[in-house]
Amino acid sequence: MELLLEKIIIYGLVFLLCLLVLVIYMFKLRRTSRKTADKIAEARASGTYEPVSLHPLVDPNSCIATGACISACPEKDILGILRGKATTINAARCVGHGACFHACPTQAISLCIGTEQRGVDLPHMNRDFETNIPGISIAGELGGMGLIRNAVEQGRQAVDHIVRVLDRSHRAGYDLIIVGAGPAGISGSLSAKKHGLRFLTLEQDSLGGTVYSYPRKKVVMTSLMELPLYGRVKMHETNKGELLDLWNQVLTKQDIHVIEHTKAERIYPDGNHFRITTSAGQEYTAKHVLLAIGRRGTPRKLNVPGEGTEKVAYRLLEPEQIRNEHILIVGGGDSAVEAALQLCDQNIVNLSYRKETFSRIKAKNQEKIQEAIRLGKLEVWFNSNLQSIESEEVALVNGERGEQRFRNDRVYIFAGGELPTQFLNKIGIQITRKFGEAILKHD
Ligand SMILES: Cc1cc2nc3c(=O)[nH]c(=O)nc-3n(C[C@H](O)[C@H](O)[C@H](O)COP(=O)(O)OP(=O)(O)OC[C@H]3O[C@@H](n4cnc5c(N)ncnc54)[C@H](O)[C@@H]3O)c2cc1C
Ligand code: SF4
Repeated sequence: MELLLEKIIIYGLVFLLCLLVLVIYMFKLRRTSRKTADKIAEARASGTYEPVSLHPLVDPNSCIATGACISACPEKDILGILRGKATTINAARCVGHGACFHACPTQAISLCIGTEQRGVDLPHMNRDFETNIPGISIAGELGGMGLIRNAVEQGRQAVDHIVRVLDRSHRAGYDLIIVGAGPAGISGSLSAKKHGLRFLTLEQDSLGGTVYSYPRKKVVMTSLMELPLYGRVKMHETNKGELLDLWNQVLTKQDIHVIEHTKAERIYPDGNHFRITTSAGQEYTAKHVLLAIGRRGTPRKLNVPGEGTEKVAYRLLEPEQIRNEHILIVGGGDSAVEAALQLCDQNIVNLSYRKETFSRIKAKNQEKIQEAIRLGKLEVWFNSNLQSIESEEVALVNGERGEQRFRNDRVYIFAGGELPTQFLNKIGIQITRKFGEAILKHD
């Protein structure tokens, strides 16, 4: 009898312990799910729930909710756990470096481009990176695949192919012109140098491409990259300053000078080579062109006097470093409003918008900017146009009040821009819209 009682107590205790573990697990699961559901609701409200380009797609049948994808993703709240399965939260913020894809132990994640409703335009190219126009190739993220390592690899491979097919008897000024100096363009330039090509690299902005404008310092490499004329770059986790320094050092050592702040504006065939005109008014000819222009496009300029000065920028980098300055923001979209909100606590901010209200911004931004205006944190000038940028002042023309002048240290212009696909269309490169196709998937 005693033995039976003892057994009942032991089994009972074990059962209670299991029950306790189960209850704690269920409680945690519900709490996590609740948090994820709240974040999804927030993401829906702010328009970041639906993916815009590359994004992870979770197969619920294979997912066992280890959370490895969430830990591996260097961006915040792109993935979460909902009812015991991984799910996307802010899919629009995915930058496509695929860390989640590699981290998932059950191979439940694929990386897709576009969705059934929202397609993404990708240029046609063959396995040698050549487009439908013989002589024009594409490398890097423009082709659809994100990641620094991929861009570096493609830049090298595309130039290797150009070297194989190059007819050196041509009469163009250069064998190759590389457009864009992000990871793909840098690697392409090093490879061109390695093969002794006569080449030129044009960059509309600053060397480094998208990496230069990361809003965070941390850079993650999911695997080693092989940089031509340098060798293996053994950095798994680094910061953008270190990576940019490395690229600068390698290019300087190889005596490669990238022509920065010069946009390739037109590329068209001329006889048996190409003619390239730039924003600086130069014209070059080249037998081959490598487009390594990424997917961010080109910001639109306003063409006002003073716009070419150093204090003017088309994107906001490291807002926390900018303090006690007089800033003018131009534009009325989400980027302009978000920049104004990020700067207005620690600076004096004026925002100029040519329309009479903010009509096309996310609900969350609308709320926040109205609150900031109400609290007098910044001043918004609707129906106004920027007229000139001077060293210490800016002038706006405002419908009712005429010219207004403000003290000014910096100007940020967010006036939209040209998409890379528009640039490709002008050149004549064929483009196809992809609706949710998997770019990276397990076999
Ligand atoms: C926020 C964020 C974080 C990321 N984090 C990581 C990470 O941690 N690890 C990782 O591996 N990847 C990361 N990525 C992805 C990675 O940065 C990109 O895949 C990579 O930079 C693509 O390289 P690219 O050379 O193809 O294009 P880009 O880096 O976009 O470079 C293209 C260059 O071409 C220039 N250009 C465009 N048009 C013209 C023109 N007409 N004339 C002259 N120049 C032109 C642009 O100014 C730009 O400098 C991140 C991306 C983002 C947005
Ligand atoms: S692809 Fe990169 S940014 Fe996108 S969810 Fe996966 S790890 Fe995060």
